[in-house]
Amino acid sequence: MIYNKKKLRDINPKDIENKRVILRCDFNVPIDVNTGKISDTKRIDSALETIKYLINNKAKIILLSHLGRIKSIEEKNSNKKSLKIVYEYLKNKLIGVNISFENNNTSNDLVEKSNKMEPRSIMLLENTRYCDVNENGELVKDESKNNPDLGKFWASLGDIFVNDAFGTSHRSHASNVGIAKNIKNSVIGFLIEKELKKLQIAINNPKAPVVAIFGGAKIADKVDSIKFIGKFADKILIGGGMSYGFLKAQGYEIGTSLFFPESEEINKQLLEEYKDKIVLPVDFICAKDVESKPIKCKYNGFNKNVGGFDIGPKTIKMFKKIIKNAKTIIWNGPVGVFEYDKFRKGTLKITKFIASATIKNNCYSLIGGGDSAAAAQISGFDKFISHISTGGGASLDFLSDKTLPGIEVISNAE
Ligand code: AMP
Repeated sequence: MIYNKKKLRDINPKDIENKRVILRCDFNVPIDVNTGKISDTKRIDSALETIKYLINNKAKIILLSHLGRIKSIEEKNSNKKSLKIVYEYLKNKLIGVNISFENNNTSNDLVEKSNKMEPRSIMLLENTRYCDVNENGELVKDESKNNPDLGKFWASLGDIFVNDAFGTSHRSHASNVGIAKNIKNSVIGFLIEKELKKLQIAINNPKAPVVAIFGGAKIADKVDSIKFIGKFADKILIGGGMSYGFLKAQGYEIGTSLFFPESEEINKQLLEEYKDKIVLPVDFICAKDVESKPIKCKYNGFNKNVGGFDIGPKTIKMFKKIIKNAKTIIWNGPVGVFEYDKFRKGTLKITKFIASATIKNNCYSLIGGGDSAAAAQISGFDKFISHISTGGGASLDFLSDKTLPGIEVISNAE
């Protein structure tokens, strides 16, 4: 999908001055359960360019984001998913900016407050998903199911809408689609602009050979992307939990490895359609469970009591040869249970090979998906990757040629 949407930079800076700008960001950051602190601030940091631009151009920013999912009144009242933590972080990043935090996002006095804002100030509202549970504790999903009244209310807080939450652009929520439908002037921010530009490079006449690498747990989540990228990729390397379904479809024993019987047909279809492109692992690091001692297994050597948790050394070598010559690489999903040290070697090596191809072979490398992005960061090779997307589901939908409703709804460029 090629988008030609109106951008923040298309608005004359004079027309931003003194205006109330509703800015939807993606501050859905991971919070460490032990320390209660933000464990990775990348998503907030990536939003700073747009925030600073608006501040420098004397806007009054009404800032919205979600943080996690809210399913019960207890969760809401616990404040564990309150955006207050993001407010504290932003305060330190935006020294000298008048920034306030509102511990709700629907009270009527917000309209008055937005009207009284000074230029160069920010009002951060509470987590938009608090609106998914009402005062009676009912799961009404006003935000996630795009209740029209909610979008209308949020739109009434501003004059211009800037959507910069790429990570939620594949969803039709009140805080993106709902607002945009109720405001005349809507644009994409710098982050979404950059994401679209970088993602488009990988699918719009990409340089051959194109190598796609898919891993992760469920084939069902990635099948559309495999099919779309499969049309122009030269090789599709498969690893992770989703690889065992392909082995099983060929009649091999896979022991206790991850397998979704409902996806058997999909596996067979893909093997048939892309038989010259799909490359499956030939060996694995297996174990009884993630706590047990790992052993090596060949693709045709599984016994019933063990499951595969990582790709093995022969597969690593085989994948390396293919990745080395690539001119375009698209990667989504770890090739093993990389959360455990003993099963992360394959995934970290993949990151290294991609980084190496990027540097030595002038390859364009793209990583989508939170887990692959986290693995790239753990490996330390993340800085060599051409682009690491901030949106997991959104980048996957984009790479499946699906429409992103949060971007589709924005006014077209003139
Ligand atoms: P996804 O969100 O579909 O990209 O899946 C990511 C998850 O897949 C990670 O939490 C990995 O631990 C998991 N994963 C990768 N390889 C395997 C495997 N061999 N068995 C089970 N889970 C896996």
